[in-house]
Amino acid sequence: MEVVTLGTIVRAPSIVRTETLFHDGAHGVAVLTLDDPHETHNTITPQLGAELTAALDAAEADPRVKAIVIRSGKKDSFLVGANLDYLQTIRFANDAEEVSLEVGKRFARIAEGGKPVVACVHGPALGGGFELALACTAAVASDDPKTVLGLPEVKLGLMPAANGLLRVADRAGLRVAIDVGLTGRSLKPQKALALGLVDEVVAAPIVLDAACRFALKLVTRPALRKHLPQRRAWMRHRGQPMARLRSMERVFVDKNPLGRMMLLRRARAEAEKETRGHYPAPGRMLDVLERFGKKGFRSAAELESRLFGELVVSETSHRLVELFFATTACKKDPGIESDERAKEKDVAPAAVERVSVIGAGLMGAGIACVSAQAGLTVRMKDTDDVALGRGLRYVKDVLDERAARSPSPTSALEVEQTFARLSGAIDYSGVSNADLVIEAVFEDIALKHEVIRDVEKLVKDTCIIASNTSALPITRIAEAAEHPERILGMHYFSPVQRMPLLEIVRTKHTHPRAVATAVAVGRRQGKNVIVVRDGVGFYTTRILMPYLSEAAQVLTEGVAIDTIDRALLDWGFPTGPLHLMDEAGIDVAAHVATEMHEAFGERLRAPAVFTVLMNDHRHGRKNGRGFYLYDRAVRGGRHGRQIAKRVDDTVYYALRTDPSTRPAALPARSLPHAKPMPEEISLRCTMALVNEALRCLDEGILRSARDGDVGAVFGIGFPPFRGGPFRYVDVLGAPEILRRTRSLEQRFGSRFEPAPLLVEMARKGKRFYG
Ligand code: NAD
Repeated sequence: MEVVTLGTIVRAPSIVRTETLFHDGAHGVAVLTLDDPHETHNTITPQLGAELTAALDAAEADPRVKAIVIRSGKKDSFLVGANLDYLQTIRFANDAEEVSLEVGKRFARIAEGGKPVVACVHGPALGGGFELALACTAAVASDDPKTVLGLPEVKLGLMPAANGLLRVADRAGLRVAIDVGLTGRSLKPQKALALGLVDEVVAAPIVLDAACRFALKLVTRPALRKHLPQRRAWMRHRGQPMARLRSMERVFVDKNPLGRMMLLRRARAEAEKETRGHYPAPGRMLDVLERFGKKGFRSAAELESRLFGELVVSETSHRLVELFFATTACKKDPGIESDERAKEKDVAPAAVERVSVIGAGLMGAGIACVSAQAGLTVRMKDTDDVALGRGLRYVKDVLDERAARSPSPTSALEVEQTFARLSGAIDYSGVSNADLVIEAVFEDIALKHEVIRDVEKLVKDTCIIASNTSALPITRIAEAAEHPERILGMHYFSPVQRMPLLEIVRTKHTHPRAVATAVAVGRRQGKNVIVVRDGVGFYTTRILMPYLSEAAQVLTEGVAIDTIDRALLDWGFPTGPLHLMDEAGIDVAAHVATEMHEAFGERLRAPAVFTVLMNDHRHGRKNGRGFYLYDRAVRGGRHGRQIAKRVDDTVYYALRTDPSTRPAALPARSLPHAKPMPEEISLRCTMALVNEALRCLDEGILRSARDGDVGAVFGIGFPPFRGGPFRYVDVLGAPEILRRTRSLEQRFGSRFEPAPLLVEMARKGKRFYG
């Protein structure tokens, strides 16, 4: 294509730039470039909306322009959706509804305009960005790994507001719309092409050229424009063995009231089960899709705007957006204090390319896996070939499973390349090259000391040594080191490849540069990173333990195992506390509870139930003796297999026969017999957690309330819609939390003694967040 730049309309500080490119000197293509000078990513703001409309109108009116292309001026990003700062300023549902109606109208004008408009997508096209691409006559996307398309609004408690969900349903069917909308997952370009949601996928360097050519083709071959829906259907069918079945599904399900009803009913039941009524957005999206099926696009679009308005001002969405801001702020935090940066010369993160992981068990293999995925060269060390082989197998299985979940033409190659970055040994060969060593051997202080001593002899001066201990104080581990300034904790969570948090633990000897380096590595591994000060249980284990202990305490009062777990699931935790103990190991919980008791005294006394369970050899799921029995069911679940669990009633027998856990008031009765209100159970467990979190901030274990919220939500599953323990205090008000804690203290004793910070905040009427 011969390209001549005709002119550029620039209004400072404008977001939308227009250039007109000519093909063969005759057919002009107006290329509208979105480039918000104030943001790293383009977002939808009123200014962008107004400028885009004006630019489109001008291009429509210009007789030299035959077609229009919309692209981004950002290097690797198209348009990532609504501007959240702007959305947060909206106070009333009606105002948000108006905004949605307005954007919907503007997008509809693009779709209905006389001249073809082609979206040229490179980089993420998310939320409103994807909706814009869907509203265009056609979309051409780059096949770059950075290009993803999706409607992630549900993750912020919202729903698409510019009819994107309806357009997905229209083009790809109800089932795809439900999947894309309710999971918020992103699609790779090839997948979007296969679903008929983009029209062409090309290499990144030629994507603009391809978009212009596609736009001109739509001008010179009007039949192509007319038959785009058929072309998309054909794209959907190409090379798809299930294609015919899917077409039949669209006839028998989408176009059939009974089929639609059954599909939506099933989706509703699944959404309800998953959200337990705490997240309204999935249900609202299903309402809109139901209306779409019954009454068509326009009516559904109106409903969408109204429901979007309600969601924008909902508490759930506010909490999720605040959490999003908190994680975004964490991502920019170097992990060290500003005075350290001023005082110390050498605090920039050191370059890390080679990582050595000592211990190829569950955690070691997980850490090796995320490190290799982050592009690091990894050497994993264990004591024998069997353990090492198991670790390597684990990594390969994780990589294969991931590739199977989102297959692409390059996924097999990516697995091979990632796995090739990993090597193993049963001695310390290779450790001398490491920039960072992470030990993940058994939780045994003598063994950890031995590893530290061995490693320190071999590594270079600049190497940082981290421990993945779950509860041993790093200061104690560092006692074996000649250079304690290079020692810190990198506390990953299990399973490492799925859990989004990394808790970095610094002692008073840890050098700030070591902290900054570990933070940078964690971020490269895709983790939300918080930095905490050393202490028994650090932050996450410290707040988790009182919560688990309280659940164990409730059990000894005669409450059924599943009643306790259900109460906390209903409160919003992803797993009940007793089930969680089964997974993490009841022996581990009992051990940590004892350590916490020793460190913090009577206030955190380990409940007697742990001793009884240990005497009964109940270590949890790993030895088949926990609170539950697990059956391998053959059906159900995403990959056709699901583990079913049922309460192991013999636990009650163990508790009943031990005097320390038999309810004194009712010695003759069998357990379980007590039936407290679920609210009472969740109140006790969660107040124990929140109160301990406040102590952590007060004692300087935490650097900020923000870190405390991010750590609790992403580390131990504190319900995101409640925002984290500190946000929860703010929302309910410190005086109310104090009242609840005091009342529990009166009934159950010193373990509920309010944190001094809580008393002070309540007295002064202070909040953690502005
Ligand atoms: P694991 O038992 O699965 O693995 C430990 C591995 O260390 C074994 O393969 C063992 O052979 C190996 N090992 C022992 N001595 C060694 C040595 N001298 N050199 C090299 N390898 C050696 O244990 P795990 O669950 O992976 O836990 C490891 C560490 O991570 C522990 O400190 C644990 O507290 C901590 N942690 C565990 C979890 C969890 O959920 N499992 C979570 C966070 C932290």
